[in-house]
Amino acid sequence: MWPFSKTKLENDPVCGMDVDARAALLQFHKGTTYYFCSASCRASFQKDADKYAANPAGSSPVREEEATHAGS
Ligand SMILES: [Zn+2]
Repeated sequence: MWPFSKTKLENDPVCGMDVDARAALLQFHKGTTYYFCSASCRASFQKDADKYAANPAGSSPVREEEATHAGS
């Protein structure tokens, strides 16, 4: 039986959401474990892992460049 401990929140580097580490999807990349709210966020990370690892959504406002190219 697992004791109820404090929920551990991790930041989803793709969408910037806080996710419950116990419920999140995981991806191991260059020695770090990343947590995702959904499979689609994880898939985005897998496509561009170095970009998200270097510039996680939650910690940087630099997302406009990406948005301008995202069209259609
Ligand atoms: Zn997400």
